[in-house]
Amino acid sequence: MLKKRRLIAALATIVGLCAPMVGSGKAHAYICCKWPYNSASNLYLNLNYVNYGDPFLGPLVDNAASTWSATHTPVILNANGSGPITVAAGTPQCGNCGGYTSISGSPIQSASIVMNESYLKASASQYQSGLVIHEFGHALGLAHADGSGCTSVMYSNLTLAHATTSPAGYDVSELNRAYPNSTWPPSGAC
Ligand SMILES: [Zn+2]
Repeated sequence: MLKKRRLIAALATIVGLCAPMVGSGKAHAYICCKWPYNSASNLYLNLNYVNYGDPFLGPLVDNAASTWSATHTPVILNANGSGPITVAAGTPQCGNCGGYTSISGSPIQSASIVMNESYLKASASQYQSGLVIHEFGHALGLAHADGSGCTSVMYSNLTLAHATTSPAGYDVSELNRAYPNSTWPPSGAC
């Protein structure tokens, strides 16, 4: 019984996910998790998100959600008042960075994204949108692409070589690898 309890506690551990930076920054690594997904029936990974309505952040959040939803993956993100993904403006744990994502559970039960609004406002527009897209990538379970040499939005620093500000083929392929389905098999690109 005790063992079982310990296991449950371990599974419930919150995993902190790193934050991207524009300019110089530290590389991070984290353990990637997945949302519950039934590949046998090719269910869409239909996740709702809660956007706290910040007038600056709101459009960036909606753009990030629709950008991931438009990729050739099972991911569909819908704005909703009670979703398991929350996005808020605040002071992220990482300090001077674009944002921070915490996920809970294995498989994932919830994800919390905190975007650094002042950092975003000081960044060029493509980075404003890229930073939010990057954090949603973490919320979906993607790890950093640092060291992969692949073109990706998931670099810890969006100004690194091969870094993009929107999902690249590698990101799409990795999502399809995480959520296997026959409709969009991973391409293996990169
Ligand atoms: Zn990151």
